[in-house]
Amino acid sequence: MATTISASVCETPGCSSEAKLQCPTCIKLGIQGSFFCSQACFKGAWNEHKQVHKKAKENQEESKNGYNPWPGFRYTGTLRAFPVTPKRTVPDTIPRPDYADHPEGVPVTERQLRGSTNIKQLDDEEQEGMRVVCKLAREILDVAADAIDVGVTTDEIDRLVHEATIDRECYPSPLNYYEFPKSCCTSVNEVICHGIPDMRPLEKGDIINIDITAYHKGFHGDLNETFFVGEVDESSKQLVKTTHECLMMAIDEVKPGVRYREMGNIIQKHAQAHGYSVVRSYCGHGIHQLFHTAPSVPHYGKNKAIGVMKPGHTFTIEPMISEGTWRDEMWPDNWTAVTQDGRRSAQFEHTLLVTDTGCEILTRRRSKDGQPHFMDSM
Ligand SMILES: [Zn+2]
Ligand SMILES: [Zn+2]
Repeated sequence: MATTISASVCETPGCSSEAKLQCPTCIKLGIQGSFFCSQACFKGAWNEHKQVHKKAKENQEESKNGYNPWPGFRYTGTLRAFPVTPKRTVPDTIPRPDYADHPEGVPVTERQLRGSTNIKQLDDEEQEGMRVVCKLAREILDVAADAIDVGVTTDEIDRLVHEATIDRECYPSPLNYYEFPKSCCTSVNEVICHGIPDMRPLEKGDIINIDITAYHKGFHGDLNETFFVGEVDESSKQLVKTTHECLMMAIDEVKPGVRYREMGNIIQKHAQAHGYSVVRSYCGHGIHQLFHTAPSVPHYGKNKAIGVMKPGHTFTIEPMISEGTWRDEMWPDNWTAVTQDGRRSAQFEHTLLVTDTGCEILTRRRSKDGQPHFMDSM
């Protein structure tokens, strides 16, 4: 006697016909069962049945790293949280900002000045302090840039940044700032900013922003760039290129007498001309002995920023430009800011010093004519 394959019954509720048609998507996803008696039954059950695919895909994503810290949380895109390694330590011999040892990471001096719109003009000695720390921060970013590759985790990049920071007698400013757990921010694909380095290996085609702030002899220096991981698609290249142009066009207009609110007009005009949007929730900021202080520098047009540029001001411009919506959302880690539509976002940042006639880009790249790293591979 020959053996027979036991007949399956159609998935359609109420239909008890014998079923030999298997759903092709289920086969691809490795889902057992899912037999239908006819195309008609398959089509009729489709709306309900496709939920099976959705759930399976979600579960596969989650089990890819065997880690799901926020069951039930709906991600806006395809990026997922991965485990975060324990906090790294900084030798006691390196001077640190006040929040480094605060139990909740509160920057007490910064808080005391919260709401003040008074912009500090740095004297010659202070300006020199900013030059030194910004040059060191640039060196640290260049170390991180060299490490970017397919398969490298953002935690590994954080480790290299941490070591490079300590090697230069600097404290990594993000570490413990309002309890931020790592020494730099790594923001991949739909992450707008403040991504936490974790065990996710970089994938070919990712874009990643690395944001470095170093603290040295009483001053903070802050910069970031977006990088390509291996070959990236043309639309990501365009996004990154346009974002860098937005920053440089704004910097071109920095000089005494210009209003801080003008920066947003320049940036939004260029972003919009390329079909992109400008993130509104995060701004550039004054920076010197304090990490974040006056002025606040929004990147969107028609903003109401207070203040006029004067020689000796030091501040950042750091536009975040998105492919789709400008709207942002936060992961339950209370740091990772992502686009609400899950599409990509890019960012570039420099720390600037207003001079008598224009500005000095304190965090400029010292080689390759000052061009950002991504241009090396364009
Ligand atoms: Zn910044
Ligand atoms: Zn930064």
